[in-house]
Amino acid sequence: MKKAAEEGRKLAIAEGNIENGVPYITVVVDGGWAKRSYGHGYSSMSGDLTNLPYHIFGSHDSCRDVVCTRKLNNEENLVGLLQEDHLFEEIQKCVDNVVRKADWLQKTVTTNYAERYMSLITKFSGGKRVNYTTGGSYQRRCVGAALAYNLGPSWHLALMNKLHLNKFCKRREQLRLQKIESRKKLKARRRQPQNTVSDLHYGPNAQDALPDLPEEFKSNMAKKLAELTKEAGNSVEIERQTTGQHVNPLWLW
Ligand SMILES: [Zn+2]
Repeated sequence: MKKAAEEGRKLAIAEGNIENGVPYITVVVDGGWAKRSYGHGYSSMSGDLTNLPYHIFGSHDSCRDVVCTRKLNNEENLVGLLQEDHLFEEIQKCVDNVVRKADWLQKTVTTNYAERYMSLITKFSGGKRVNYTTGGSYQRRCVGAALAYNLGPSWHLALMNKLHLNKFCKRREQLRLQKIESRKKLKARRRQPQNTVSDLHYGPNAQDALPDLPEEFKSNMAKKLAELTKEAGNSVEIERQTTGQHVNPLWLW
């Protein structure tokens, strides 16, 4: 590291890159560029960039010696000519776009708005762990990320206390209420029994049990029971009449 620093110092001195007695080198990084100047040359970058159109078209009055190597070339100054047709103004507008980002370039801060926006969305969508692509969920999260960035993290709390902000919100609210209403109806319909005809074989409306035997059997049974009861009173006589059992014809009968 020390060796590399020494090497850099020698290179800087050889190129004449010395500011306030401290050598510096210019570093080119990934399309952007930043000057590492040990904390004393940051403010000069935007100045150099603003002066760039003048330098290109031959006016080196404001060029710093460490930046400009064309001061002694006796170039023709075309700035006045360009200013007559307002063309120079247009060129300056293009350069302004870079000048505004000079601080970011120096500190190697990204100027990629798309990447920055994606990082905000990732906070709202939880990366790729959950599928939010259905029902417009992802779109709402994108809008939410942008609003949270522009208006602060509590922007939604202020909106919650306001009634319908515009036609869109009103329509959304109507749809939401309609959905709740239809769900209630669906639930009520599900609670009702599907078959309104009562079951004859089960439940409180079931029919009375059918008699196992015909009615005449009951009367015959009663008649027979009466006969038997009557005969039971003559048990002594029956016993005498059937003496001998199997040899007695009455016993078998
Ligand atoms: Zn110059």
